[in-house]
Amino acid sequence: MRIGQGIDVHAFEDGGTLVLGGVTVPHPRSLAAHSDGDVLLHALCDALLGAAGLGDIGRHFPDSDAALRGIDSRELLRNVVAQLEACDLAVAHADLTLVAQAPKLAPYVDTMRDNIAQDLHVDTARVNVKATTTEHLGFTGRKEGIAAFAVVLLDE
Ligand code: MG
Repeated sequence: MRIGQGIDVHAFEDGGTLVLGGVTVPHPRSLAAHSDGDVLLHALCDALLGAAGLGDIGRHFPDSDAALRGIDSRELLRNVVAQLEACDLAVAHADLTLVAQAPKLAPYVDTMRDNIAQDLHVDTARVNVKATTTEHLGFTGRKEGIAAFAVVLLDE
């Protein structure tokens, strides 16, 4: 087995489209980023790359690459999964946590889970998505941005 963890944070900006786990979440603010700002999928990509010993998301998809501007982060995830499969690595389990004071994410986590399982080529039972607040503490509690944490286990 291989284990990997990933962490990502993005700041809110006014307007735009908030995308988390490949789901468009209705909200007056979005996450500032070179890509679509899907902080959950970025944390997941970093966990997968970490478990595979393949570095990090910034190395594979640099902010300086104009071709990646506004890219759907599910495309990044699928690219990472293809790299894992080329190394004969399969996802045994992924446990993901979003940290956001707002918006309320519980109504969307099941769809995020379905999207992620589809891109990981695994049954939904092998993916878990959780959302929590920080009780108004810290930058997430002040609604300045969203953080995401991911832990994955890969089978060789
Ligand atoms: Mg990111």
